Amino acid sequence: MTAKLKPWLKTAFQSLKALSQHRLSQAILLQGPEGLGKEELAVFWLKSLACLTPNSEAQACDLCHSCLLWVNGSHPDRFVLQEAAHKAIPISASRELIIWLQSYPQISSKRLVLIPKVHNLGISAANALLKTIEELPPYALCVACSDRPAMIVPTLLSRFFRMNITSPSQNDAIFWLASQGLQEVAAIDYLRLAGGSPLKALSLATERSVLFNLAQQLNGLLNGELCPVKLASTSLKQELMPVLHTLWLLLKELLRCCYKIPPASLYKDDFFDQLWLMSVDLNPQKLSCLIEDLTEKMAVVEAVALNNQMVLETIWIAWQTCRNSPRSLPLQGVS
Ligand SMILES: [Zn+2]
Repeated sequence: MTAKLKPWLKTAFQSLKALSQHRLSQAILLQGPEGLGKEELAVFWLKSLACLTPNSEAQACDLCHSCLLWVNGSHPDRFVLQEAAHKAIPISASRELIIWLQSYPQISSKRLVLIPKVHNLGISAANALLKTIEELPPYALCVACSDRPAMIVPTLLSRFFRMNITSPSQNDAIFWLASQGLQEVAAIDYLRLAGGSPLKALSLATERSVLFNLAQQLNGLLNGELCPVKLASTSLKQELMPVLHTLWLLLKELLRCCYKIPPASLYKDDFFDQLWLMSVDLNPQKLSCLIEDLTEKMAVVEAVALNNQMVLETIWIAWQTCRNSPRSLPLQGVS
């Protein structure tokens, strides 16, 4: 069974197919707001071009040798030009691509290049590619994506055929978000926060749900309704690093509340009211110390293996001491 494309990307896929059938351009830029799935569309199309036995709708079969290599990330005719660790794409990566394009395809009919965030090309890296993108070999195709086309070096930008990827109508977006389990009222709310981008709306909703659960747990610890040891063991059902990162976000937001600093846009609702109430009882100095400690712990956790249970227990206990007037906590908490 072939992978499904998001409904609002289907028309753009048809346009891309027409582009390749009529050989109108070999360098295409998919541009549009964040959270619409531009990279997903680019990969979907490139994979279908690489596929040895595409279906009647010219979509990848997901079964052939090419599709299996693609999924494994080892397709010899695919090149992904991307940045590493939030840095600009270096000129060395551009040079590597230029050399790679000099060879003929090995399995598929084309050599396929994907540049997921073309605006991240440094100036020298972009300049190095100008001639290559302008005169791609007949067997090559390059698809770039960007939600910030104004940041692309103009001389490079002018060499791409630009295709706009637009947000679906609100009704279509709500319909899709409902299929992902979101209630209509919540879907409308998150779509507004996400500027109409359904994927971003879903990501905000997921993030918010995780934050909400964690806020409930922090409240339970403060009130002595939850036991740090038991909660640490429950929390370990998830991976440690995401838990620490979410906690870090939440503690920073609580600290803003302590100092009466306006919340980040995501929290301007009833959830923020809950944080605000919780912050009234908190000691900002102790909370700052906990955030510093947590930041250090996150760096250590990334570098070496620690006893995750101990890490979380220490954090939860430190959190309980952030109250201005600690109440006597039960010796044996109830989870
Ligand atoms: Zn295939």
